Amino acid sequence: MTRYGFKISIKSCIHQSLRGSTKRDILRFALICTISISVMKVVPIRALNTNYIWTISTDQQATVIDPGEASQVIQYLADHRLKCSNIIITHHHPDHTGGVRALLEHFPHTPVYGPDLTHLGIDAIDVSKEKNIQIKGFAKPWQIMPTPGHTLDHLSFYYPGHLFCGDTLFSAGCGRIFEGTPEQMFHSLNLIKNLPPDTLVYPGHEITLNNIRFAESIDNNNPDLAHYKKETIKRLNQDQPSLPSTLDLELKVNPFLRTEVSTIQDKISKQVSTDISTPLDTFIALRKLKDNF
Ligand SMILES: [Zn+2]
Repeated sequence: MTRYGFKISIKSCIHQSLRGSTKRDILRFALICTISISVMKVVPIRALNTNYIWTISTDQQATVIDPGEASQVIQYLADHRLKCSNIIITHHHPDHTGGVRALLEHFPHTPVYGPDLTHLGIDAIDVSKEKNIQIKGFAKPWQIMPTPGHTLDHLSFYYPGHLFCGDTLFSAGCGRIFEGTPEQMFHSLNLIKNLPPDTLVYPGHEITLNNIRFAESIDNNNPDLAHYKKETIKRLNQDQPSLPSTLDLELKVNPFLRTEVSTIQDKISKQVSTDISTPLDTFIALRKLKDNF
């Protein structure tokens, strides 16, 4: 089970709007709050080695993101009396798409939103050229963010307060660059950096601790990182996911989002024996170091 993005805003909302209200008003307001919290419940389903298939349930409907496998999703939906109403795909890799066909067999006619997936035999609605899309079951539009770098077709999906970023941004790290250029990946991460800081971040893999260990090797005097490591170990030891993260936290602990920080630039310069002073060059050197970590 994940944390909810609505908590703080609802709390302050209650304080502001219930001054002088009757008990009945408060009860009615609490009911409205409960409904709006239940509007969006986001749960990770484990798959393959480290994948998370994020599942958003709204009433009896579920939106499934990057189903690399199907059986555990079908089981989860059955256990919670949910129907699969939408499938969202961030990119074409098999660990993010391998379960789509089986899910469609089980839930025929479910729309699949993503990049063009015809080469995989998946009839997806190609949203790569769209800025915003309306998805059934959601009150607000989803923002489509092209985030190439890990793959060329990679999309991130932003629903106000929630970012589903596949293999572009990980907690304390970022995806490997397989198809795009470092410049593209750097630009994609910068797009994400500009989202509201309280955005909940839902990456596609549980590799946070490994990323933290790498981050420590170049940002070892960062108290936020040290604290995050402790918290992450605690969560993982309790068999809980380390995710979702928040963008605010990532800006404090993720070296790939901190390439303008001079102490990180200095450390990288020493490690690669070259004077590195721009955020892009820092990012390129960081990514290379992580590839061999
Ligand atoms: Zn991938």
